[in-house]
Amino acid sequence: MGSHDTAGDRPTRSTRRTFLSASAAATAATVAVPLLAEPAAAHDAPPDGPGRPVRPQPPDRELRDLLRQVDQRRIEAIVRRLAAFGTRHTLSSQDDPERGIGAARDWIHDRMREYAAASGGRMTVELQSYVQQPAARIPVPTTITNVVATLRGETSPNRTYVITGHYDSRASDVMDAVSDAPGADDDASGVAVVMELARLMATRRTAATIVFAAVAGEEQGLYGSAYLAGQLKAAGADVQGMFSNDIVGSSTADDGTRDPRSVRLFAEGVPTAETPAEAATRQSVGGENDSSSRQLARFVADTAENSATGMRVRVIYRRDRYLRGSDHISFLREGWPAGRFTEPNEDFAHQHQDVRVVDGKQFGDLPEFCDFAYITRVARVNGAALWSLARAPGTPKGAVIVTSNLTNDTTLRWQRGTEPDLAGYEVLWRETTAAEWQRVIPVGDVTEVTIDLSKDNVFFGVRAVGRDGHRSPVAFPRPGS
Ligand SMILES: [Zn+2]
Repeated sequence: MGSHDTAGDRPTRSTRRTFLSASAAATAATVAVPLLAEPAAAHDAPPDGPGRPVRPQPPDRELRDLLRQVDQRRIEAIVRRLAAFGTRHTLSSQDDPERGIGAARDWIHDRMREYAAASGGRMTVELQSYVQQPAARIPVPTTITNVVATLRGETSPNRTYVITGHYDSRASDVMDAVSDAPGADDDASGVAVVMELARLMATRRTAATIVFAAVAGEEQGLYGSAYLAGQLKAAGADVQGMFSNDIVGSSTADDGTRDPRSVRLFAEGVPTAETPAEAATRQSVGGENDSSSRQLARFVADTAENSATGMRVRVIYRRDRYLRGSDHISFLREGWPAGRFTEPNEDFAHQHQDVRVVDGKQFGDLPEFCDFAYITRVARVNGAALWSLARAPGTPKGAVIVTSNLTNDTTLRWQRGTEPDLAGYEVLWRETTAAEWQRVIPVGDVTEVTIDLSKDNVFFGVRAVGRDGHRSPVAFPRPGS
């Protein structure tokens, strides 16, 4: 970050004034300067106050190397192979070797085991099964199986990040387990992202644990991801971030609009698992834009919007799209930060549709409508975020904004992390009307700091910094003492 810092410390407003005066002088003889036509950048300038402007976290050499190795041909092969199982409906055959969800399960399992074989024992793969008793969209007792590859972290193995795609598919009728349901975009694309990242990360070392999961039962009601989240909860895992990749296969809308360089990331504001006490705090002092999922989404934009991914991360401030819900909701229900990646424009003729031709128009979720270069870039976005999370120290815990007295400054406290490479902390702040953190103050290896700014007027956060410069997501402090 170093080279940016000095320039960033210059007061941006006088720079603007200087520029306007210079251009006024240059053009005064011929045209009037449109004083109202200030570019939007002037309004986005960080406010005056302590700290330097927040900058994105650039990818280091190791991460660039990883992202370069994301292989479009492998991703295409995975999507085509999964589509070729005919249907992967959750209620389809589990023991036919060629058609149905069981064949797809075994194929994914075999590939994941191959990847794990190169990990030196750090990646383990399991078929995680349970029997779902009859429930909504499950008419008879049904075995639901997730294929789960776990890359164990070296220094903080309990700290866990999760990435999922769902390998089940559906036709027009969600209960139709027989018709073709190739599910190329929904959601072989997401499974391909998960599998390709599992392959690349299997040979690399991370501080924290990463779980790569192909889950089932999504279309019937998020059954597989709910079970995965429940198993992690029961094991006491400290899940600090989760991404569902669901419908990441194409960038073309039904009207032909293309946006191949952006991916949406849905991130909720008010937490799904908010308690009444937390709701009361939020109603009292705000924070509806500061859930742990929003901090995670900011972290993704911070680490994955760059030349190494070639992508823009369009964060959407809602839990999911209208009428839809994906596997991140299973993790939000457990109180963990999570978000959903999905393509920027959709073509609903190629989702949840029987494969058929009507008036010369092809319906159905077929591989021919996928953009494999696009899926490759989405994998890079996920890879940048996951790698940066798993290499950095964890999000600070126990962050408190001290409210025992009325003061015009701000005291923050947090617990020190136990990571061996922890170097210290940074306090971030922004105007309450700003969506992104604006200024950052390095405070060193301490667990309490007082900042000369009124907590009534701005929002504060804290993040951890590793010795190699990796930053954690931001923790938003709760009021306390
Ligand atoms: Zn889906």
